[in-house]
Formats: sequence, C-alpha cells, structure tokens
Amino acid sequence: MKDFSVNQNDQSKYDVIIIGAGPAGLECARQLRDSKLSVLLVEKNKTIGPKICAGGLTNLTSGFGIPNALTRSFPLQNLFINDRKYEITLVHPLKTITRLEFGQYQLEKIVDSKNITILINTVVSEIKDDRVITLDNKTFKYKYLVGADGANSIVRKHLKLRSNFYNGLYYDIPKVTDDLVWLMDPKLLKTGYIWMFPHKHYTNIGVYYNPVLVSAKSAKEVLEKFIVDRDMIFSPKDIKGAQLNYNYEGYKFNNIYLAGEAAGLVSRATGEGISFALISGKEIAKKILNPEHKMTELRKIIKIKHRQERMLKVLDSFPIFHNIFLRISAILLKYKWFQIYIGT
Ligand SMILES: Cc1cc2nc3c(=O)[nH]c(=O)nc-3n(C[C@H](O)[C@H](O)[C@H](O)COP(=O)(O)OP(=O)(O)OC[C@H]3O[C@@H](n4cnc5c(N)ncnc54)[C@H](O)[C@@H]3O)c2cc1C
Repeated sequence: MKDFSVNQNDQSKYDVIIIGAGPAGLECARQLRDSKLSVLLVEKNKTIGPKICAGGLTNLTSGFGIPNALTRSFPLQNLFINDRKYEITLVHPLKTITRLEFGQYQLEKIVDSKNITILINTVVSEIKDDRVITLDNKTFKYKYLVGADGANSIVRKHLKLRSNFYNGLYYDIPKVTDDLVWLMDPKLLKTGYIWMFPHKHYTNIGVYYNPVLVSAKSAKEVLEKFIVDRDMIFSPKDIKGAQLNYNYEGYKFNNIYLAGEAAGLVSRATGEGISFALISGKEIAKKILNPEHKMTELRKIIKIKHRQERMLKVLDSFPIFHNIFLRISAILLKYKWFQIYIGT
C-alpha cells in the first residue's frame, strides 16, 4: 500500500469541506482539484478505502477510468431463479474490485494537490450551519459542506432527513472462483437475493435483503446454505454486514450538499451504490464550481433508480406474480435494450 502522509495546512476556514473519503467524497475532491477553492476532506478511518461492500461495478462506472488491472470482468452472469438457471451475457460486463485498492487508487488522484487538505483518523461529531466540529474538538468553518459520509450520515441527520434501509451480509471466502452467480428465491428472500462475486484473491458471497420483510437470522441461514451447497467453508465469526440507505430526498439543501449514500443514492433493487456515489460526487463538485451546471448525469441515475423502484413497488404489492416477473425479466435480460433500460 502507498505510504500516504497527509498534507495539513493548519487552517480553520475552507471553501468546501467534504465529510467522508468513500467513492463520493474522493471523486468530489478530485473534481475540485487545482481549482481556486480550498478544500478539506475529513475521513474517520486511518486507511482510505476499506468498506463493507461486495465491490461490484456496473457500466455506470465506465466513465471514471478505473484501470482494468484493478478489476476482474464478468460478461457472463449465472442467474438462478429458485432452481432454474439462466445464463445471461451482458453487453457491458460486470466487474469486481476490492474497496481498499479502489480507495487507494482514488486517493492517488488527489494526494499531491495543493488546494486539498486531507485529514484522516478524524471523526466529525457535530455540524453547525457554518462549521463542523470534530471529536477531538477542532472546528473548521465552511462555505459549502458536502456530506459524503455514507449510509449513517451525520450530515443527513443534521438536515433531519429520514433514511430507509436494506441490509447486506457476506463472507469473504479465501478461494478463487470464476463464476459470477445471482440467486433469487422470493419465497425465502422476497425482493432480496444472494450474490457470489469472484475477486482476484477471494470470493465474496453475500445476501441483500429488506429487513422489514426478512429477518437477519433467515437471511443468514439462506446465505450459509448457499455456501455449504457449493462445498465452500466459512467461519461464522467472519460474517460482515452493513445497511444501505436508499431514501433519496434531494442533493442540495442551501449550502449543504449530500452525495452517494448520504443522499440515499443507492439502487433499492440491486444495492448498487458505487456508481451513484461517483456520479453524484462529480456532479456536486461541478455544481459548486459552476452554479449553472445542469446535473444531467445525476438526473439520469435518479431516473434509473426511480424506474427500478416502480418495478419493486409492483412486486411488493403483488408477491404472487414475483416468480413470473423474475422469469420474464431473466428472458428479457438477454436483450441489450432491456439491460440498458434497467441500468446494468
Ligand atoms: C454488504 C454491502 C454490499 C455492497 N455491494 C455493492 C456492490 O457490489 N456494488 C456497488 O456498487 N455498491 C455496493 N454496496 C453499496 C456501496 O458500498 C455504497 O453505496 C458506496 O460505498 C457509497 O459510497 P459513499 O462514498 O457514498 O459512502 P461510503 O463508501 O460509505 O463512504 C463514506 C465514508 O465516510 C466516512 N465517514 C462516515 N462518517 C464520518 C464522520 N462522522 N466523520 C468522518 N468520516 C466519516 C466513512 O468512514 C467512509 O469512508 C454495498 C453495500 C453493502 C452494505
């Protein structure tokens, strides 16, 4: 890993303060790099990158120049609906990346920029209308604040916005595999699913579910059975899990912006959030630099998100049609127009 020392100008006033160095915050900082604005990026962790995440990248991330050397690529998707298998070749393959490597790659793009100060190992504990206060009692004033602090965002709480959550649980199995698999079983997981994402040195196998409809206990049971059925071994203590906030209510609140999951920009249908974080981080930086910026890319992903949510609403209302709907979707997924329509 790169030996990264923080550039700290001992300053207490910034044009832009970004809270959170995930994909959204790092991309926002990258767009503000070499601008006239002074930027402070605050991250609570010591290392930038690691995050509870399966690391799947769709084509929506293709504009961000992520090097192929960091990813594995899977044109073929093995989709199981109950016991029936569908093989789907995606026009734009799904890729996998480890979050540590991705975060370090993003960090490299900003680490030597003169106008950006990066503060790691620092928790923002309080937000005021013109300043943020850290756990170690430092105060930093801002003109613009960007909340890029993820699913349990303190900035979102300051704005008194409600969050709605799906959950994800997974194991990283230390075995290299080659098949990317999705399994849907509406009887057990309702609108959730199991995924198996091969990475370079391990396989990430997890379950995504709506905690209102499925208990953590049964989601975990389905996940563990899936792993055992594939003759893989897991250690129960290594399970990891986190929430995903999908409730989007806007990105701009006077001089405070929300990006990525802090804004609820996650696909409720699939849990995809990396692309949404990158796009919103980029668009918000452009808006700060030019208030006339039209936010076309952000509008496009919000449209995809709402389209997927309308489909889920139908499924939630008519669970009896769930299986039929999934089977029809699996057949339609062979066509490029449908892949684009649902945003893969
Ligand atoms: C189990 C699981 C699997 C997932 N799999 C995928 C997938 O395969 N593909 C995909 O596209 N998406 C996936 N997601 C979603 C994806 O991880 C998120 O949507 C994405 O990371 C959001 O990026 P972000 O920059 O908005 O927030 P984050 O990546 O969460 O980054 C927020 C950053 O803010 C920091 N922070 C938080 N609070 C503070 C504070 N008070 N002070 C300072 N710093 C703070 C955090 O430490 C973190 O570094 C998954 C999520 C889960 C839970």
